Amino acid sequence: MRLLLLAPPGAGKGTQGELLAARFGVRHIAAGDLLRAEAQTGGPLGRQIADCQARGDLVPDQIVFDVLVPAVVEAAARGGYILDGFPRTLAQATAAAELGARLDLTLDAVVYLYAPQDVLTRRLLGRAAEAGRSDDTADVIRHRLSVFEETTGPLVGYYQERGILVTVNADQLPQSVTAEIEERLSGLIQTRPGP
Ligand code: ADP
Repeated sequence: MRLLLLAPPGAGKGTQGELLAARFGVRHIAAGDLLRAEAQTGGPLGRQIADCQARGDLVPDQIVFDVLVPAVVEAAARGGYILDGFPRTLAQATAAAELGARLDLTLDAVVYLYAPQDVLTRRLLGRAAEAGRSDDTADVIRHRLSVFEETTGPLVGYYQERGILVTVNADQLPQSVTAEIEERLSGLIQTRPGP
């Protein structure tokens, strides 16, 4: 199973990514987590990543590729992945598609999770009170949501045109979101023309 989760901050990509990875027995690759781990190693690259993340800006595409591609290639060799938070720009999507074609890795589906802006903001502020991520402050949350809308939003149309997008309402209990994703995925895979 090779699946991509496309969702604004606060929609629950991380939660669904973990649940789906367990369900399909594949690795959950969270772009934000891998970048945060790289940032923790210190060094100039780490500092650049940490600065982008703290501001709520996207990390430059080349750095994202250097950090993500080895994990994706390794997971692909072990049966697949649930990729959460990558690609996040059209340039990343095009580069990922080229890499996929070269390695003969087609995506099974892209799951787009959506929820109203006020629900997303409320969830992120709630998490800020518990966990304390450097980018979970009101101003940075507003910026991350607008970066999603402007830069990542166009990927919805990009994958829709390719006939692999399923759209799921994320404003429900986590287990209901998972159930809806599974239902929509089996619908997509059943209706797909055979080889
Ligand atoms: P959220 O979706 O709530 O913003 P993530 O952990 O997915 O949380 O991402 C946190 C931050 O990590 C982003 O604001 C951005 O700085 C960086 N990041 C994650 N994925 C990417 C990506 N594919 N391209 C560029 N930057 C990324």
